[in-house]
Amino acid sequence: MEQEDTMSESDTSQIQAFSPGKLARREKIAEARERHRIEYEAITTVRNCLACGEEFRSEGAHHRLCSRCRSRR
Ligand SMILES: [Zn+2]
Repeated sequence: MEQEDTMSESDTSQIQAFSPGKLARREKIAEARERHRIEYEAITTVRNCLACGEEFRSEGAHHRLCSRCRSRR
């Protein structure tokens, strides 16, 4: 039983290290990021990269290389 008490004590101190305001802000950022991802997927289509053949999210007809191959040039 002594061990269990020690564990719950350390759990409590870990929670206290996170201030509730910071936690809420982090949740908001995750929410905004998720919304951004959904929007991005709505405006892009899956294409195969002309250079490496891997699937990537294309932003339009002009966009035929994945971000990896594009950054290589
Ligand atoms: Zn590629």
